Amino acid sequence: WSKETVAVVTGGNRGIGFEICRQLAAHGLTVILTSRDATVGVESVTALQEGGLNVIYHQLDVVNNSSINQFVEWLQENYGGLDILVNNAGVNFNLGSDNSVENARKVIETNYYGTKSMTEAIIPLMKSSLVGARIVNVSSRLGRLNGRRNRIGNVAVREKLSDVESLSEELIDSTLSTFLQQVEDGTWTTGGWPQVYTDYSVSKLAVNAYTRFMARKLSERSEGQKIYINCYCPGWVKTALTSYAGNNTVEEGADTGVWLALLSDQTFIGKLFAERREINF
Ligand code: NDP
Repeated sequence: WSKETVAVVTGGNRGIGFEICRQLAAHGLTVILTSRDATVGVESVTALQEGGLNVIYHQLDVVNNSSINQFVEWLQENYGGLDILVNNAGVNFNLGSDNSVENARKVIETNYYGTKSMTEAIIPLMKSSLVGARIVNVSSRLGRLNGRRNRIGNVAVREKLSDVESLSEELIDSTLSTFLQQVEDGTWTTGGWPQVYTDYSVSKLAVNAYTRFMARKLSERSEGQKIYINCYCPGWVKTALTSYAGNNTVEEGADTGVWLALLSDQTFIGKLFAERREINF
């Protein structure tokens, strides 16, 4: 890896995203740290630059199409593309078994549609190389289809989303529309959705399914044009998102993401990881 390798991280101003930027830059890459708020983003970049790291700032709000378009234009003009995208930006408002229409919309919009919009916008800019470009989605065990705790109770939905061959964007999007409609109608508690951290879990379930779907789609690209996509759970990490109540440090939370971004053995594609190991979706 060298300065010529360009990595983009969303939501890089704090928490796990900030640490992913730091670790990638410490490996010698050029890192574009992005954030929705320019003031805090520039402060974060300055802190890393003062440590001698090659980190550049650009504004990016993953739920704002014009912000994404401006970023993509700037990236193309200034770097001619990128090698690594880390979709890290995310929100959570759940405290337990609570759920509200406004928060559910925001969570799905940011965690799933933000990841999807960025992925779609960035793929045409990914550089051709023999080692392959990489996309890492920061997801969660809470979004596992077959996890022991908190899984989707609706067997029909679970089976449909489990079948990678028939997985499609339409299926994922329509599952989310059904969920949001039920939150709006007040019927979600009987809809078979996870009973705690509900909208957050559903958003990450969609990220996991989208990662698998995209891996299948991207596998059709020819040698030299390959893009490897995976997702991972950082564990329960001490960040603003958990009110600093997690078990893991941000260094531990970033570790598997950085490992996936730099992994030379690309036999893993479209998988979910935790602690550098593959886990079931
Ligand atoms: P933080 O709240 O510390 O960081 C979240 C980051 O996402 C912030 O930089 C935030 O920006 C940014 N963000 C939110 N919305 C947008 C947006 N629309 N556009 C761009 N950036 C945005 O939380 P974490 O570091 O813990 O979270 C990072 C990722 O890790 C998330 O995807 C989260 O779901 C995931 N994760 C975290 C776990 C944990 O235990 N902490 C567990 C499992 C997964 P701003 O400062 O402006 O709000």
